[in-house]
Amino acid sequence: MKAPLSLAAGAASETGSASLAAADLALVDAARRIIALRRRPEWHSVGCALRTRSGRVFTSVHVGAYVGRIDVCAEAIAIGMGAAEGDTDIETIVAVNKDGHVVAPCGMCRELIADYGPGANVIVPGPQGDHPVPIASLLPNKYTRHDDR
Ligand SMILES: [Zn+2]
Repeated sequence: MKAPLSLAAGAASETGSASLAAADLALVDAARRIIALRRRPEWHSVGCALRTRSGRVFTSVHVGAYVGRIDVCAEAIAIGMGAAEGDTDIETIVAVNKDGHVVAPCGMCRELIADYGPGANVIVPGPQGDHPVPIASLLPNKYTRHDDR
């Protein structure tokens, strides 16, 4: 299945993004475009798009490896791209699978997103369609170092 390459602002996607604002639809579209462009079975199967509060958008793909447990998620790569540019104030982040469907972040990425963007929103799938939720709602009782309190 080919991932949709563009969506009109405000239009519902085939995966049910009717509740997303235009900027968030554009973010989902950016994630779909990067995985459609860079998909490589076993090596790059998830795409991510991250928008910072400055308005910059970083897109990435997950980095697979022969030893599966050392794969690096697309969200971590996008956060690293922002860090390299000195821009990690995450406003919204989304990941999509190889078919362009929005996927929820794994537990490790929830930690990373919360560390770098405690006020970030994450676009996740749901029965009513894709929608943004605060990262704090995806990671209740987050780990903190004792001296961070
Ligand atoms: Zn992850």
